[in-house]
Amino acid sequence: MKILLINPPNCGRSIPEERYGITSLKQIFRGEPLALEVLAGNLDEHETRILDLKVEPNGLQAELLSFTPDLVALTAMTCEAQTLLRIAAQVKRCCHAILVVGGVHASADPEFFNREMIDWIVIGLGKQSFRELVLAIESNDLDSDIPGVARTNPGKTLSYQPRKFGRNDLAERQAPRYDLVARYRPDYTLQSLGLQLGFVASAAGCPYDCSFCCIAPLTGGKYLTASIDTVIRDIQCLQTPVIRLVDANTFGNPGHALKLAEAIEKAGIKKQFLADVRADTVVRHPELMKRWKEIGLRALVIGFEEIDDAALGGMNKESSAAINLQAIEILHRIGLTIVGDFIISPDYTERQFDKLSNFVKQQQIDLPMHTILTPLPGTRLYQQMREQITIHDLDYYTLTNAVLPTRLDEELFYQRYAALLAEGHQSAKV
Ligand code: SF4
Repeated sequence: MKILLINPPNCGRSIPEERYGITSLKQIFRGEPLALEVLAGNLDEHETRILDLKVEPNGLQAELLSFTPDLVALTAMTCEAQTLLRIAAQVKRCCHAILVVGGVHASADPEFFNREMIDWIVIGLGKQSFRELVLAIESNDLDSDIPGVARTNPGKTLSYQPRKFGRNDLAERQAPRYDLVARYRPDYTLQSLGLQLGFVASAAGCPYDCSFCCIAPLTGGKYLTASIDTVIRDIQCLQTPVIRLVDANTFGNPGHALKLAEAIEKAGIKKQFLADVRADTVVRHPELMKRWKEIGLRALVIGFEEIDDAALGGMNKESSAAINLQAIEILHRIGLTIVGDFIISPDYTERQFDKLSNFVKQQQIDLPMHTILTPLPGTRLYQQMREQITIHDLDYYTLTNAVLPTRLDEELFYQRYAALLAEGHQSAKV
């Protein structure tokens, strides 16, 4: 079969820009679509292409006409979901390809995609279930259910068998098809340093259940680690000097992470690494962080989220402000760059903005990243706050808009938010 995998374009709308002319908050994300590369790697019997509309926003029509795919698959985050529908409609107007959607929003709210222009929905980690779907379509054997895959049925409730995720769902047999995005590679650059990044996955899912997070449902709450050999193989496929380990929680199994560090050293790999870690993992395993620094770890992304215990408890973060401080102290001592994620509640007062700004400066967070608390469909936060949501248009679910009412005057809230981001950019040291 001829299969076209599509990464949607940068999209999303900005309230601060539209209402108050604050233009500094729009996020541009341009990293390689690893999930699609992995899907392609697992479809080695088929002719597969990847179209990255983030790099080539006007490339759809020409690709459809030249490739004439039998099957088109699209992935989308929540803020991209409506854009995905627009692309799906364009695909259906232009060709007769079977249309499949997957990714974070399809997993969080599959009913959203239960529409005429879409044929199948892949729910949760789709590396293996998408392959099973393609095989079933090719052999016209669609009578039995594929767990984690739903056939659309517009106007009726979706019916599908949930998937019990396991190691097989990591689809490790073949390396990701990095070659399919080779033409885009110069655009996959860490802008602050002008460094080209390559993405590798060493794990999937997360055993924690933070109320705002959409990761755990992707694997039914399981934490799955890739085999060490697979990760080394994938790193060695890439020529880039910096490897971003894209797992939401790279050190979730410290024993596995240690073995991986040893294997990277043994393989003679000389690259820099960026990875995500929980603050409590740093506190419990400082030696592991040190070991990773020795083999090239340069920066760690930590979800501090909030700076006081009451707010952290409300998010079910299972951590504390004291642990955050200990983690910062350890990472400074080791000499690792700290990329700190903080979540700004729409409920913030001016005093809370001041406190967070002072915290970031005092604790010398090298690169603070601030997002606005957003109840994403499919999360527990959404269930808790759905009655209070004032903006339901998913184009605004970019994590830089308040879709809940702000306590401060709205314009002042965005001015303070923009100022916080500007401080972070000015002081950034990566
Ligand atoms: S925020 Fe991090 S620790 Fe919490 S559930 Fe998501 S990935 Fe896991």
